Parts: sequence; structure tokens; C-alpha cells
Amino acid sequence: MDYSDLVDVYEKLEKTTKRLEKTHILAEFLKTVRTDSLPYVVLLLQGNVYPAVEEKKIGVAAKLVLKAIASASGIPHDKVEHHWAKSGDLGETAAELMGKKKQSTLFKTDITVKKVMENLRKLATLEGEGTVSRKVDLISELLTSATSKEAKFIVRTMLEELRVGVADGTLRDAIVWAYFGKEIGFTYNQKENDFDVKDRIKYNEYSDAVQRAYDMVSDFSEVIVAAKEKGLLGLAKSSLKVGAPIKVMLYPKAEDFKEAFEALGKPAQCEFKFDGFRIQAHKKDGKITLFTRRLENVTKQFPDVVKFVEEFVKAKEFIIDSEAVGYDSKTKKYVAFQIISQRIKRKYDIEEIAKKFPVELDVFDVVEYEGENCMNKPFRERRKILEKMVPKEVPFKLKLAEAIVTSSEKEAEEFYQKSLQAGNEGVMVKSLDAPYQPGRRVGGGVKIKPVMETLDVVIVGAEKGEGKRAGWLSSFIIACRDEDSDELVEIGRVSTGFKEKSEEGTSFDDMTKLLDSLIVDKKGKIVKVRPKIIIEVAYEEIQKSPEYSSGYALRFPRLVRLREDRGPDDASTLREVDVLYSKQRGRHK
Ligand code: AMP
Repeated sequence: MDYSDLVDVYEKLEKTTKRLEKTHILAEFLKTVRTDSLPYVVLLLQGNVYPAVEEKKIGVAAKLVLKAIASASGIPHDKVEHHWAKSGDLGETAAELMGKKKQSTLFKTDITVKKVMENLRKLATLEGEGTVSRKVDLISELLTSATSKEAKFIVRTMLEELRVGVADGTLRDAIVWAYFGKEIGFTYNQKENDFDVKDRIKYNEYSDAVQRAYDMVSDFSEVIVAAKEKGLLGLAKSSLKVGAPIKVMLYPKAEDFKEAFEALGKPAQCEFKFDGFRIQAHKKDGKITLFTRRLENVTKQFPDVVKFVEEFVKAKEFIIDSEAVGYDSKTKKYVAFQIISQRIKRKYDIEEIAKKFPVELDVFDVVEYEGENCMNKPFRERRKILEKMVPKEVPFKLKLAEAIVTSSEKEAEEFYQKSLQAGNEGVMVKSLDAPYQPGRRVGGGVKIKPVMETLDVVIVGAEKGEGKRAGWLSSFIIACRDEDSDELVEIGRVSTGFKEKSEEGTSFDDMTKLLDSLIVDKKGKIVKVRPKIIIEVAYEEIQKSPEYSSGYALRFPRLVRLREDRGPDDASTLREVDVLYSKQRGRHK
């Protein structure tokens, strides 16, 4: 398949923010794609080069692309940089400057999706000496053979900045519309931007099947081939693979235990809500692998946890879900997440830092046990299995999450106080009947935390500082996630809560270093960054505001902490902000 066909779709997608219209565009396109191209096409549609479950990442810095544009176009580096500063979009700059060069390329062949993918993947695997110049050569080669429109999207993909907004839910629906449209009597009304199906039940059945398959393998490039070639049966065969990460189950917030019991039924299980980070531990053929909630493999970073799992989980094959919680080795009290967070990305002196910042693994769920998928078993049964798997709990190494089963609000409240006193964040209340639902936030349980609500926001840009903050990025543009349009929408700027010195906490210097390689565009003092860094912010109030694309602004936002364990998909959603806003209005009346 020619890359230009994909580019046409990108352009169509870019023109609309309406989710149904996007779904329709995608579905129509998917129908035309041959099976052998589908895996690449699907990845590229979401702006990815590898499925999330793979460790490899593309991550090319803007500076490198700048060099490649200069080399491929023959335009001096400073002119390219100048153009970029004006356009504020390196993709646009590539398109325009490469366009000027085009007349001189006589024998241009159409580049294929495969070729683009192969070169992008080569970029991701280059290592060692001379890497920079080899990367520049590879990028120049791609840009030289691309049309200007193609160059724009190739550059954006390299920078992980595609911005056409194809989220998981949209892709799932597009797969259903594309391959099962006939069976469900599907029609799309372009004028009304609405759709109709003759058989609702069947539609839901197909949707669920695609979603379920995705939950199992966390990779649409695999799911789509199963759907197209083997239909429902193929989807049903997509099964859990021990050793491949799954999306973990999530929980919405409840105000109090009354609300929790109403939502989940009685009795329910209350568990400590630890302030650590999520770890899913897999074991197969004697090998243990650890993943974060973002599906990153962190086995190397946590040799201590691997040992605990090896020693204290008595089974040959499993996937368990748990929280790694830091504790102070002297006082033996739990410590907050940020103290241990630096272990997640650490590449050197791992044993040393493991000693300095020890963790305990608190296991709270089981997804696979000795070859059997446990997702559909009720939680009460899964907990029984866990108790069998961990016959002996060892404090400060590995335990089952401390829990009680109760129908009493009073008892739950006492347990909540106990959890807070132990240094935890609050409690989880879980339905005893619920299945394990990967990636979903409904039905299975709720979290209860103290009142002060914070938001997890993505940094999408920043402004350079002045005076004593010159040389640093000192004000950060933050965004939340609009689930309807699959886009990040800005909600304010934050510059409070960061420190002048790194010893005191997260400093401006730390932030500047973190964001430097993520810069994709700059205009004057403002830089735009790849949306990778998540911070938790507190604020005084949420206000309506036309200034930001979310329609809201946070009043007096301040940094609570960096969330190294989270990605843009975990950011708070616009809907959550809507709810917080209206609750707050209610309170103020
Ligand atoms: P929040 O970050 O407030 O949305 O809470 C969700 C996170 O709480 C999960 O991703 C887990 O990492 C963490 N967590 C802590 N304790 C538990 C528990 N007992 N059960 C489930 N999740 C827990």
C-alpha cells in the first residue's frame, strides 16, 4: 500500500473532531486495506511504530529531524530553524522546505507504508557510535523520497506527535463498522453524523468481542487481523499470553461508603489503597516479568520484587496484579510514591538504589493461574486463589493487600482511618461478584480518598523563564484528555510547587532536563512538547475560561508531584473535570 493513501486518511481525520465521523473515515479506509498491510497501517494510524507491549520506542528528538531536513533539502540549518520558529510545527516546515526541493528529484518512486515503517523501525534500533549521523541519513532518505504532504506526517510520526486523534475506542468501533457492518445491518448517515444498526444486540456482541480481544493482547495490529480474517471466532481465540502485559483494571472515585455500597452491593471488600505504583507480575517457564500500568517492562529495575515473587508466590504460571509500595527501612512506615518513583526509569546502580528505596509488594488480584484465565471468575474466588498462591505473607517483602469484607459503613470507616494512619492514600472498595475488567473503570470497585481532589495533567508546552529563572523552562502548559475527540485540551499553566534546587524536590532544572528532548516546536519563548510527562496538580478552584481549549482554567494550580508511572492515557478526562466543576458549584451555592 502506498503511504500516500494513508496520508489522505490522516488529512481527512485532521479535519474533524467528531468521533463518529472519524470512525466512519477509518472504517471506510480499513475496508480497502489488504490483510498483509493491516498491522502496519493500524499502528501508523495511531501514530505508533511498535505496539505498546513492545519495549522499543522511536523517540527521535526534534534537533535531529532539523538536521535531516537541512541535509535533505540543501537549505542551511539556521534557515530551517528559523522557518520552524515561525511555523511552530516541524512537520509543516519539512513539508514546505522539502517541497521546494522536489522539482530536482527526477525519478521519484511512490513510497509504501512498509518502507516508511521499516525505516522508522531502523531509527528506533540504531545504537552505538555514529548513531546520530546514521539517523540523520535515514531520515533524509525518507524525506527525499516523500512528497511534501508525506514528509509532514513522517516527521510528525517520528516525533510521536501525529495529532490526528485515533484513540482506542474509535479504532475498536471502526473495526466493527468495517468488518461486521453487513451482519449488524449498519448504516452511517453522513449528513446527520449519526449511525443506525438493525441488530443492536449483535452490534454490542461484536463490539464486546473486539474489545475483549484487545483487552487480552493489548495490540490492535493483532486484533484487526483476527477480526478481518476469522470474525467472531478469531476474536474469541485471542487469549491472554503470560509474559505479554495487559491493561489493568481501574476504579472510579466514590464520595463515601454509602455511595460505595450502593454501587457495589453488600458485603464488599475494603482494601488498603497504597500510594505506590502498579506492578503486574507474570511467571511462565520459571521466568518472571514485571510490567507497569503503562505496559512498560520494569523487570530489570526491580530485582528485589522478582525475588519476592519467586520466593513467596507458590505457583508455576500466573499473572498477578499488585502495588509496589515504598517504606522507610528505619521507621518501617510506608512512604509516598515520589520517594520511590525514581526507581521506575533507573538504568544503572540498580541494586544500590533498591537498597536505598526498598519496596513491599502488595498483591490484590489474579488474572491467570496455572494456565487458566481467571478474569471471569468473581472477585471473591480470585481472592481465594490468591490466598492459596501466597500461603505465607512476609511484611516488607510480599503480602496480600490488607483487607476486610464488610457490610457496615462504620466498620469500613474504621478501616479507612487505619489505612490512612498506616501512611496509605485511602481505601479501595471492591465488589465481590465482579470479574476482572482490564482497562475499565466501571463496576468492579471504587476508590475513596481524602477530599482534596487533584488532577493528573499532561504537560503539552512550556515557557522559558526570565531573570533568575533564565535558562530554565519555568511555566508549564497543562492539559487533560477529551475522551470525545480523543484530543488533549489545555486547562491552564502551572509554575508553582517547583523548587529552585533539586535537593528540595522537583526543580525547574529537573523539569527543563526532562522536557528538553521532548520539544517538538518552538515559537518565541514558548515551546511545545511531546505529551509524555504527567504531573499531579492541586488547585483552589476550577473556573470556566475561554482562554484554554478545555473551556476551563485551574485557579492557582500547583505541582503536587511528578507521576513517572503514568502516561497521557492516564490523564484526567474532561468529563471528570466537568463533574468536579459542577460539584464545586453545588458546594458554593
Ligand atoms: P488513582 O491513581 O487514585 O486513580 O488510583 C488507582 C491506583 O491505585 C491503581 O492504579 C493502583 O496502582 C493503586 N492501588 C493501590 N492500592 C490498590 C488496591 N488495593 N487495589 C487496586 N489498586 C490499588
